[in-house]
Amino acid sequence: MILPPHLTVRGGHLRIGEHDTVELAERFGTPLYVTDEMRIRKNFKRLSGALNDYYPDIRVLYAAKANGNLAILRVLASMGAGADVFSAGEVTLALAAGMRPESLLFNGSSKSPSDLALAVEKGVRVSVDSLDELRQLDRAAGAVGKTVDIAFRVNPEITVPTHPKIATGLATSKFGIPAGDILDAYHQALAAEHINPAGIHCHIGSQILDVEPFAREVDVLIDLTGDLIDIGVDLAFIDIGGGLGIPYRRETDFAPTPEEYAGAVMPVFLNGIRELGIAPELWVEPGRWLVADSTILLTRVNSVKAAHKTFANVDAGFNLLIRPAMYDSYHEVFAANKMDACLEREYSIAGPICETGDILAEDRLLPDLAAGDIIAVLDAGAYGFAMSSQYNSRPRCAEVILSGENAGLMRRAETIDDLTAPMEIPPWQA
Ligand SMILES: *Cc1c(COP(=O)(O)O)cnc(C)c1O
Repeated sequence: MILPPHLTVRGGHLRIGEHDTVELAERFGTPLYVTDEMRIRKNFKRLSGALNDYYPDIRVLYAAKANGNLAILRVLASMGAGADVFSAGEVTLALAAGMRPESLLFNGSSKSPSDLALAVEKGVRVSVDSLDELRQLDRAAGAVGKTVDIAFRVNPEITVPTHPKIATGLATSKFGIPAGDILDAYHQALAAEHINPAGIHCHIGSQILDVEPFAREVDVLIDLTGDLIDIGVDLAFIDIGGGLGIPYRRETDFAPTPEEYAGAVMPVFLNGIRELGIAPELWVEPGRWLVADSTILLTRVNSVKAAHKTFANVDAGFNLLIRPAMYDSYHEVFAANKMDACLEREYSIAGPICETGDILAEDRLLPDLAAGDIIAVLDAGAYGFAMSSQYNSRPRCAEVILSGENAGLMRRAETIDDLTAPMEIPPWQA
């Protein structure tokens, strides 16, 4: 059993930070997301420190979509992070968390007129994903007499070894402007009255466990930056996106450390800017790496069934953690109240959703399980609660955040009333 340092075992119980997970489950109920704030702080320091060791002008934009809870955003804001935001909601939450507008980058391939107007109004930089969007943004800025700083999102046409649903830099991806069309895009940005082409942006995908594609990506960006200098674009920042993966299978996954990541990308970046004679800020947009391992999902066994397989039927399913169903993802699971017990048999941990695919973990060797036991699902902090739903009319669960000996809600559990509140009876049914 390999546990990350903020997870420990005492008296047969799994602990997170200074807290007994079985007590947390009793106190707050299950299912329950539990986040250790200290772990996020450590992760942030380590990743930004690894990059800062090479270059002072690093800006870390946390990818808010990984976990958008305000308390998480506040922790990262207090560390000096900005945010990579994808929606009006994420812009609003990041600002509410205390992040400054100029430390946000509004991303996405399909922004609405109101998204663009919000960016202009708040002074948030925009990663522009098409020439159509450029024209719309120029008009929106012109309408209120402002100028907007933009980057174009480049599609570097790089293949990366990850799940195809989260590879974003493939030639066929919906994201970005093909590298071959980028110069024309910057020409148009230079000509636009209310646009300042301040940066260049790229993001090649998520859960990438090899640093080499990141180095290739930076190489592409440096080449393009050189071409841009020739046409008179003076870049203030180069944004290399996020995507650094984590070892979900601690026993067998090889995952690069932040130091190895920095060791791969920074020399390419530093040599490149030295040759070009420029000193732009380097922006990075980690999501998963900062928050994934900070959080566990606690779920209680409702029943055990011996069939072709032995199922432990628990109270959390893909309504709360969709990654296994959506990406075939692996999450480590432990019997949180039987950490010292012998591993007896293989269980499939099955959720309460009316779908065959509602399996959180398949064929895992665990102690003998019984109704009432608590299962901890590890590394649930990124794309966990953030991707949850009310499918099967299940209210979403609570989220708890820990800081040292403090434990408190950062989101209360939804109730049945929360399900029905936005529903309307159409007048002809009344
Ligand atoms: C999702 C996303 C990220 C973060 O990806 P991680 O794999 O969580 O690090 C960064 N930038 C953009 C543009 C994204 O879409």
